[in-house]
Amino acid sequence: MSTNELVYTPVDDIPKIRDELRAGFASGKLKSIEYRKYQLKQLAYLIKDNLERFQDAMNKDMSRPVLESRFLDVLPTLNETLVQLNNVDEWAKPTKPPFSLNFTPMRPVIRKEPKGTVLIISPFNYPVFLTLGPLAGAIAAGNTTLLKPSESTPATSALMTELVHKYLDNELVRVANGGVAETTKILELQWDHILYTGSGRVAKIVSAAAAKHLTPVTLELGGKSPVIIDPGCDLKTAAKRILWGKVANAGQTCVAPDYVLVPKDFQETFVNALKEVYEEFYPDAEKRAGVPGAYTRLVTPQATERVAGMLENTKGTVVFGGDINRSDKFIAPTVVKDVKHDDSLMSDEIFGPVLPIVPVENIDEAIKFINERDHPLALYVFSQDDKVKTKVFNNTQSGAAVANEVVIHPGADGLPFGGIGPSGQGMHTGKYSFDLFTHLRSSLDSPSWIDYIIKFRFPPYNASKTDA
Ligand code: NAD
Repeated sequence: MSTNELVYTPVDDIPKIRDELRAGFASGKLKSIEYRKYQLKQLAYLIKDNLERFQDAMNKDMSRPVLESRFLDVLPTLNETLVQLNNVDEWAKPTKPPFSLNFTPMRPVIRKEPKGTVLIISPFNYPVFLTLGPLAGAIAAGNTTLLKPSESTPATSALMTELVHKYLDNELVRVANGGVAETTKILELQWDHILYTGSGRVAKIVSAAAAKHLTPVTLELGGKSPVIIDPGCDLKTAAKRILWGKVANAGQTCVAPDYVLVPKDFQETFVNALKEVYEEFYPDAEKRAGVPGAYTRLVTPQATERVAGMLENTKGTVVFGGDINRSDKFIAPTVVKDVKHDDSLMSDEIFGPVLPIVPVENIDEAIKFINERDHPLALYVFSQDDKVKTKVFNNTQSGAAVANEVVIHPGADGLPFGGIGPSGQGMHTGKYSFDLFTHLRSSLDSPSWIDYIIKFRFPPYNASKTDA
């Protein structure tokens, strides 16, 4: 079956959609855990039945290789859905606080209640995982949800719209499509929680709109995630993982290694290892450049122009790659060495397949370099020495701290995914998604006999009650 065209939601329809979702919440359907599980199963079928259509749509949008769509986007979404399905019974159970002599007789309970009608705004780069993944958490927690996928991946967003409306109960889940005008309208309305994934610039707009209604917000943002190379690392593994993490999805990954800090005496050795890996990974690099589906393309002409501009203005030395084909939105996997602190490649999150190597004196200078900048979403260190890893982790702050690996930690079962400071606030995936969309409602049921013990609380407030 072919992919659909993306139809923007008429702005005037948006308040009605929100009201229908509110009515869906009020219907009480999602109070039933069984019904939540039925919807989660439907979501799992939505993904499983349409794996190839998702792959085709993402290929149409970004020329993305099947392997990247399947293993970095669609299958992790299925896994996330199954995690919610398999755990919702347990997570939704009321819990009791620890025993307290004063309060346990009043039967204290924490009820796990949905927040209500929530909004999920997602970016283009992992369009399925970052839209349907959090949706699974929102359903498990019992919320009704409006999804606002990215307009920059029209084929994938159109497909998600068709499938969500076909597989899921539309009193409970809807999709609204569009760009700035439509999202601005959506943000004028009151929601019970907003999960926004995207750039820091737009996050400020979302936060300001949410503040008007005092709506709680979770922000999953980006930034420049650094890699520190310790000369004692497993060099081949480091070079392979870093180059893969940088080039996958054409570098359009929020946790992509943005740049590498390497002791200057070791730069040449590290760069040679990257070159070797490049030749292994892309033996026919030249030929493959023009083949659709060989490399992911930059998402839009504007994105291509932005990364091309950063690359063309660098004062560093291009080691390999460097080809730019604007009409094809193609930028070759590129490594640039001898990059200085104030280089064009260091001004902003790159979000393209270009890896700057910044030489430093030593690990201490690398740590200082990181601490002088915004807290990143991920921080990577490649080292075989526990002292080095501990030193790096204990003396920096970041969303995640990862040794000898890149990019895949957001998919790790049981780990929260989120940033700190400018790289985001709040966290999701697994139990953390369930919690994000859950209100912990404190509850007591106090028996009458308690007043025999604490009847002194009632007036009249005689001095005899407070005088020791
Ligand atoms: P973006 O901020 O341009 O777009 C994200 C969403 O915001 C889209 O749905 C878009 O329609 C909407 N939007 C855009 N402009 C808007 C406006 N003026 N008002 C209201 N809504 C608006 O982000 P993008 O380019 O799609 O994604 C790239 C960014 O997302 C990068 O910075 C990346 O690091 C970050 N990101 C973060 C994570 C994470 O989990 N932390 C994951 C993926 C991407």
